[in-house]
Amino acid sequence: MIDLCVLGPGGRMGQQVCDLAIASDSVRLASAVERKGAPAVGSVIASSSISIGDALPSGLSQAQVYIDFTSPAATAEAAHQAIAHKTAAVVGTTGLDSPCQKALDELSNVAPVFVAANFSPGVALLLHLAKTAAAALGSEYDLEVVEMHHRNKVDAPSGTALALGEALAEGRGLNLEAARESNRDGQVGPRRQGEIGMFAVRGGDIVGEHTAFLIGDEERIEIAHRAQKRSVFAAGALRAARWVVTQPPGRYSMSDLLGF
Ligand code: NAD
Repeated sequence: MIDLCVLGPGGRMGQQVCDLAIASDSVRLASAVERKGAPAVGSVIASSSISIGDALPSGLSQAQVYIDFTSPAATAEAAHQAIAHKTAAVVGTTGLDSPCQKALDELSNVAPVFVAANFSPGVALLLHLAKTAAAALGSEYDLEVVEMHHRNKVDAPSGTALALGEALAEGRGLNLEAARESNRDGQVGPRRQGEIGMFAVRGGDIVGEHTAFLIGDEERIEIAHRAQKRSVFAAGALRAARWVVTQPPGRYSMSDLLGF
């Protein structure tokens, strides 16, 4: 049995992770930590005896691994705190900035750290297929990424869209930062050779959809993934938690877990 701490248990993803952990026979929900002042603090998680706390050191000290679907600032803070406890980390928060990556790198010197912008096995395959397709089709096929998410998502493009852009760029031998174009508005002129367009649609309750377009003069390929339920990410995060506690300190990703 693996003892788990869930960060952000009051959030959309945190709730899913708690539900699956409670139903699991290989993971035990040991603690759950929200931000100070969050409405969920003090409430008891349904079908468990776990009360949601706001003290990170205490929550981390009760667990072998924590799962983090929160915000970049909370992710950096948790990684700093986890160093003292050598707690393994599974991080699904997106929009991670460089201070955040630095904190995760520091934690990975003493504990295994698993980071994925998307925990669905289907998206891991999508990235693999997109890279292969971009390499196979060559530069006469233009590359574009479109992603769609629910109206409450706060970062754009999504972490998965950026990973998909990276996969296309790698396949084509491009640098994503130089190739990326997310702003076509007004007299923007014709498309640049080697550009990778990346666009975000927001609305309703869309769980997450990503499409890579490879567009030639006479045909186009679309490689798409549609998440139907948020639980696919929670299940992937729990799978990552079970696996990562068996690994030595270091950084890990979905390709390490799935072997793509
Ligand atoms: P959400 O806003 O519903 O939940 C975030 C939760 O984190 C909230 O309950 C908030 O109070 C809590 N939180 C904020 N600061 C905290 C702190 N310091 N300590 C503890 N808890 C804190 O958001 P969500 O839809 O659950 O998404 C959360 C993150 O996960 C986003 O970055 C999103 O893009 C990402 N996400 C990743 C995947 C994936 O597969 N990797 C899938 C879905 C969402």
